[in-house]
Amino acid sequence: MIDYRTPLADIVFALEQAVGDRALPGWDAEVARSVLEHAARFVDGVIAPLDLVSDREGARLEAGRVRLPAAFGAAYQAYCAGGWPGLAAGEDYGGQGLSGMIAGAFSEMLAGACHGLHMSLSLPQGAMRTLRANASPAQQARWMPRLAGGEWLATMCLTEPQAGSDLSLVRTLARPDGKGWRIEGSKIFVSGGDQDLTGKTLHFVLARTPEAQPGLKGLSLFLAPSEHDDGRRNGIEVLRIEEKMGLHGSPTCQLAFNGAEAEMVGAPGEGLKRMFALMNAQRVDVGLQGVGLATAAMQRTLAYVNGRRQGRGIGGTALLVEHDDVRRMLLTQMALVGGGRTLCYRLLADIEAGSESPLIDMMTSVCKFFCTEAAISAAQLAIQCHGGYGYLAEYRVEQVLRDSRITAIYEGTNGIHAMTLASRVIHVDGVAEGFTADAMAAGAVAAGAGRVDTARILADLTARWNEATAAVRANPRVGGVADAYMRLTAMVAFAAAWARLEAAAGQAPNPERLRATARFVREFMLVEAGAYAEICVSSADLGYAANALREAP
Ligand SMILES: Cc1cc2nc3c(=O)[nH]c(=O)nc-3n(C[C@H](O)[C@H](O)[C@H](O)COP(=O)(O)OP(=O)(O)OC[C@H]3O[C@@H](n4cnc5c(N)ncnc54)[C@H](O)[C@@H]3O)c2cc1C
Repeated sequence: MIDYRTPLADIVFALEQAVGDRALPGWDAEVARSVLEHAARFVDGVIAPLDLVSDREGARLEAGRVRLPAAFGAAYQAYCAGGWPGLAAGEDYGGQGLSGMIAGAFSEMLAGACHGLHMSLSLPQGAMRTLRANASPAQQARWMPRLAGGEWLATMCLTEPQAGSDLSLVRTLARPDGKGWRIEGSKIFVSGGDQDLTGKTLHFVLARTPEAQPGLKGLSLFLAPSEHDDGRRNGIEVLRIEEKMGLHGSPTCQLAFNGAEAEMVGAPGEGLKRMFALMNAQRVDVGLQGVGLATAAMQRTLAYVNGRRQGRGIGGTALLVEHDDVRRMLLTQMALVGGGRTLCYRLLADIEAGSESPLIDMMTSVCKFFCTEAAISAAQLAIQCHGGYGYLAEYRVEQVLRDSRITAIYEGTNGIHAMTLASRVIHVDGVAEGFTADAMAAGAVAAGAGRVDTARILADLTARWNEATAAVRANPRVGGVADAYMRLTAMVAFAAAWARLEAAAGQAPNPERLRATARFVREFMLVEAGAYAEICVSSADLGYAANALREAP
């Protein structure tokens, strides 16, 4: 059983590749390396040992307040003392003003080390991004220093029992009271809805104003603090915390808003637009969670298959890693980790560069989808490589599967992301052209590095993707093919990521491993794309199953 170890050299390599020769605000390669070295020491020494505690002890509700594992408290104090909450916040708010690339890499480490605690630490990062983009100067001045200093944590309150994927059904009501707003309603599944790390939580709430039109356009965004400046509790009650298959250290709360005082962010009816800044930041972050979790699964597998002997090898009993089928599984994990990390960091670099490209929305969904599926696949493979021991708690690969499973569900289910890509995003002007140009540019990088085979594969994949895109755009009913289209799109992006990685193998921490993985991607993994392309061009819909799937009388 091993704890997560930050793959610092791999992270630095991927970050530097993603930045390339771009001049990104706040980016300094020397500073990044030094900060990440400190971060890795902190994560490996303080956070990683908490993962087991997170799973075994979990969060509890006592007398209406959430209690987290006691060891989380000391770790949180060390986190604040190190200035980590304000890593990417402006210096005017008491933060360190460092690049979002560094904050992204730190987030990947935290999630790999202890997903349960990471949930509480990551929401304030998205909250600060949202305040910067959307809140009034007075709101920013009030809340940014509290979040950047770690005095307050934050939540995102969207989901209600009748409003999950479909937020147009949100019923929570906000009424004006002369001074501000009062919120009435119930929210479920709120991560970090209460906690005892700080006791103070700033809730970002989607609610409907009394005169608002129905549907999404009637939603507004509110800030509702758990307590007032004089220490009185606001009218927000924790009704229960959910029992879950994993992520035990993250309290998933049902909250009642009983006339809670709140302030609006932006204007009435702008709620979803304003909340999108938070949701998009969290979606990239969930992609990074996927990379961190896949890394943990891969590290445990690598250690195990290099230690256990079974079957015949050259000159005696073989280590598991000597069997090709085990190599296949380990290389798949390595490919998912390296490709997913590259996709996320390239997206972060585009965001940091302030790119207005319509590709940002698309790649946010692709990263969320691909990296979360990657984490689940890597965890499944880890269990398989451990054999019967993988099914036991001892090696903690089953924990990675239980913890990572939610990542494909929250922040928009992967199915909804696929539907959005196929029905909306791909129709936006410039998206298909931008995506094609990026894949072809990666092919040119591969050709420049002497990998003509990779360049040819990318050209072929891109052509198939364009055919599939034309079919999807012309298809009025994409529900049946949306998943295949997302998987094909992710495959092309993954192929481009690996083309770039292989071209830079000479500078990688472990060039031999990187080249072996790149070859495996080319020869074993990319062939899957053909099947997805065929589903897309078939334009199959599943209407024929309508009667067959109704519950039998
Ligand atoms: C551990 C955990 C933490 C969470 N944290 C938060 C949080 O902090 N804040 C918050 O607000 N929420 C949170 N959630 C809620 C989460 O975001 C929702 O569970 C998610 O959005 C899905 O909503 P739902 O559960 O109602 O599923 P449903 O919307 O009922 O979906 C069920 C299935 O149907 C599919 N489906 C639904 N509609 C369509 C459609 N139109 N087309 C095709 N397929 C469709 C979905 O893809 C899914 O597979 C959390 C949930 C969990 C379990």
